[in-house]
Amino acid sequence: MEQTAAIAKGQDTAGRRRAITDSLQTAGIEYRLEEFSLPRFSGTNIVVDIPGKDTSKVFLLSAHYDRVSVGQGAVDNAASCAVLLELLKEFKRNPLNNFSIRGLFFDLEEAGLVGSQAYLASIRDKQMPADAVNLDIFGYGDTLFAAASSAEGSLAKALQRAAQETSLHVRLVEPARYPASDHRPMIAAGIETLGLSLIDGAEIDPILQRSAQTPRILTIIHTAQDTTDNIRGSDIEKAFPVLLQTIRGVDEGN
Ligand SMILES: [Zn+2]
Repeated sequence: MEQTAAIAKGQDTAGRRRAITDSLQTAGIEYRLEEFSLPRFSGTNIVVDIPGKDTSKVFLLSAHYDRVSVGQGAVDNAASCAVLLELLKEFKRNPLNNFSIRGLFFDLEEAGLVGSQAYLASIRDKQMPADAVNLDIFGYGDTLFAAASSAEGSLAKALQRAAQETSLHVRLVEPARYPASDHRPMIAAGIETLGLSLIDGAEIDPILQRSAQTPRILTIIHTAQDTTDNIRGSDIEKAFPVLLQTIRGVDEGN
């Protein structure tokens, strides 16, 4: 909650970025800023590398830190950034066996997935991540709403298994039915990918059907209502171990 509030308080992209890099610094996690510039946009991604015991494969964990011009961008997407920070701290304390972690805080998602596309273009001829989890809209709810590059893939299966022993629901849909976010360029690049949101299960059908009944989430994001008042820390606390176990499950190959 504190972390989400610190990011949401940032007056602009630079302020939000500073809240994240301050937190990384406090946790003793090294980071680098990767600037990109395209004909219409320029921006800055924050990149973190946490070596695993075997560094031959990379597991990408990401969330965008920019927001639209209205509201505080708390649900979309400071809360996901706070969760990503906690995941990075966890993997710093207790690294994976078979993967290095690459943490990415993307800029300019709201401008059209610009930061993630720039990042993936920059690593095209280098080591592509084997797996990726992208968090977008992770502020409250009883359900992990997920898009998987492959419903039968190791990530989707690890997610289902990790959630089984909890009260948390998982709703897995095809990427084409799931709202656009930075997971899309990852899937396009051939990376085994999960796009993940935490929202109330009752909202998902109205989102998928674009029905007349507006789901609560669409009255919050991209409006002046997107403030920390809408974050439910207890829901995020329940989802966090599932997220962690999903990643560790893939690492352990089960
Ligand atoms: Zn978002």
